[in-house]
This record gives sequence, structure tokens and C-alpha cells, in this order.
Amino acid sequence: MLERLPELGRVLDALGDPRGLHVVGGTVRDLLLGNPGTDLDLVREGPVEDLAGELADRLGGRAVLHGRFGTAVVTYDNDKHLDLIQARRETYPEPAALPVVEPGTIHDDLARRDFTVNALAIPLPDGEVLDPLDGRADLGQQTIRILHEGSFLDDPTRIFRAIRYESRLGFRMDPDTERLAREAIEAGLVRRLSGPRVREELVALLGEPEAATSILRMAELRLDQAVDPPLRAGLNAVQRLKRLGELAAEYEVDAPPWRLALETLVEPGQRVEALALTKRDQQLVEGAPGDARKLVEGELGGAELADLAGRHAPDAPLLALAIQDDPALRDWFERLRHVRLDVTGDDLAGLGLPEGPRVGEILGELRRRKLNGELDGREAELDAARGLIADA
Ligand code: ATP
Repeated sequence: MLERLPELGRVLDALGDPRGLHVVGGTVRDLLLGNPGTDLDLVREGPVEDLAGELADRLGGRAVLHGRFGTAVVTYDNDKHLDLIQARRETYPEPAALPVVEPGTIHDDLARRDFTVNALAIPLPDGEVLDPLDGRADLGQQTIRILHEGSFLDDPTRIFRAIRYESRLGFRMDPDTERLAREAIEAGLVRRLSGPRVREELVALLGEPEAATSILRMAELRLDQAVDPPLRAGLNAVQRLKRLGELAAEYEVDAPPWRLALETLVEPGQRVEALALTKRDQQLVEGAPGDARKLVEGELGGAELADLAGRHAPDAPLLALAIQDDPALRDWFERLRHVRLDVTGDDLAGLGLPEGPRVGEILGELRRRKLNGELDGREAELDAARGLIADA
């Protein structure tokens, strides 16, 4: 079966003696499902640092070591990578905290995983599938099942992961898993996660093609309201998300799908600093929903509309269009957003205007008139500039 992993042959050659290594987790899951193009995740009982370095040398790539404990990523041929991980045992000192990690066996490593369908390994060079938790049966039944009752208490990020796999694979949590997810959500455990951990999960969940399905499932499990900041998932969000996808493609808008999806879940005025996004992402996620509402409600002239649309562009005007189709907003995307003045500060200096704040003010006024359709071409702009300078 492993011959179906396109990169493995080369990696095996580079390894020389691959014994003691296992292909694990999502790689095995996807192999068994016949899904192509998965990453290669390898686990070894014992340290991985030296092996990662040797492997990188032989593949002509480089190894980056991560974290406190035995994790390396080998990158080669520019865009290929494989994860090399030391088999570990994990214990959780308290709910939603990071685990204490110790070296372990491959069986320990499978037992620490999120779901049975990911708790699978194949020993190299090519052995029988290790399946101590009956993951293959759950693959056959399209079921997402946690490994023990306390799994979501240990790590509530697994609730997001469960939804992500449900949507992506078309699977479903088994009734006990779903009940325990609801109980963990009800008990407020999601709020105990650090902001960056929640952000990572939301970005992964909302960045997948099946994000709409996940949003509905979040609403059903009330996971949306359990997050800090509280989100509002539901049919409205899903409809907007669908329109956003179409509009983003139509106008070739450069905004990550996860961010647009998140903006459909955030109420106008909601602060999201808890998620520790980059400054720009935070500004857009906090600003776009409110500006979109104003864009939808307002009867705005060209310059005013351009001003408001530009403040949190491209997200706010796109979200506004997703809420309500509007010729003025379409005009912004098709025309106004590309409008540039033909005159510059140098032209104003040539007309005798000294350097200073008036330069910016006059350029701003010229731009406003141009957006309102009052100026057509460089000569008209120069004429208007002369008038404005004379008035000063
Ligand atoms: P993807 O296809 O999204 O990359 P993946 O299954 O490879 O999915 P990763 O997030 O790359 O998922 O994680 C790799 C493996 O690590 C998973 O298959 C899973 O077994 C394990 N894992 C990841 N996160 C957790 C977690 N929070 N708890 C337990 N196991 C986890």
C-alpha cells in the first residue's frame, strides 16, 4: 500500500535503513481512504534530530527542529516537506493546558492522538497497519471517535478538529463523541484555551473548502458562542460566505478565505483581540462587518462611498456586496477602486503651491471630485487645481 505515497520511495532511498520508523496519522488515514497527495508524517521511537539532519542532507533540503521535544520538519525541492516526530507519551496536568510530553513507544504515540481514524501507523519499509484502536472500522463507518472519555477535556481544540474532519471527509462524530463535545462546550472549556490556539483552529477550520458545513455544525453544537470572542454562526453566515466566495473570484480579490469567513461570524463592533491575529487581520476583522453594514444602509456619493469602502478594503465592500447586491458597490470594484489622479504633488508645485499641508488637502479634494465624476482627464484636474490654489 505504501507504494501509493508518491514521495516515499525517494525518502526510503535517502533513509538507507528505515527500520524503526512508522508512517502515521493523517497520512495513513488518507492512504486508506484513497485520498491523494497527503503530507508524509513519520514517527520514530527515539530522538529524531540527527536523522532529520542526515535526511535533509541526502534530499538536498534542510531540517528545522521545533519545540521542546523531538519534532523536525525536513523541507526539500522547495515545496516538499515531511514531519519527523519522536514517539511520545502525553499527560495533561489540567484541562485545556498544554500536555507534559515524555518519550514513548509507537503505541503510546497512537494513544495520545485525537481520533481513532488518526491513530494508525504503518511500520517502514512496509508492514501491517498498526490499528490498536480500531481506526479502520471507524474509517469504514465514516465515524469520528475520540480515544477516551476525557479527550475533549484534555484538549478542547479537538472539538474544532472533529468538526473539520466531519466536514472535509463527510464523516460524523459517533453519539458518545458528540455528547462529550457538547458537554465540554457547555462546561466552558473552550474559553480556557489560549487565544493563539483558538485562532489556529479557526483559521484551519474556516480555510477549508467545506467551511460552510463546519459553520453550521459550530452553530448546532453551540461552539460559536463558546469561543472568546463569541461568534455567531448560522444560516446567515453560510449564505454570506457562499456569496463572498463567488464575489472574491469575480473581482480577483486578494483576501484569505478564513478571514472572509470569520467576518461573516463577527458582529459589527465586536473586538477580536483575544485571537491575537496580526494587526492588519485584526483591523479588518473588527472593521469590515460594521463598515459593510454602513455601506449597505447608506445612500453614499462616489467619494464618500470610496472613502468608506477603502477603509477596510477589500473585505468591507465585498462583505457589503455579499449582504446586498448594489450597483454602486459593483462600480467601486470595477472602477472606483482603480481611480488614481493624473496630477501629483509635483504638478501642484509647478503651479506655484509651496510644500506643506495644503498639498495633501488639495490632492484630497481633487480625488473627491474625480470620484464624484466631476473631473475628466489631466487638463481638467490641472484647471481645478489652479482654482483651488487661487482660493487658498
Ligand atoms: P491535515 O490533513 O489537516 O494535515 P492531519 O491529520 O495530518 O490533517 P495535523 O494537524 O497535521 O493533521 O496533525 C497530524 C496528526 O497529529 C493528526 O493526524 C493527529 O493524529 C495528531 N494530532 C494533531 N493535533 C492533535 C491534537 N490536538 N490532539 C491529538 N492528536 C493530534
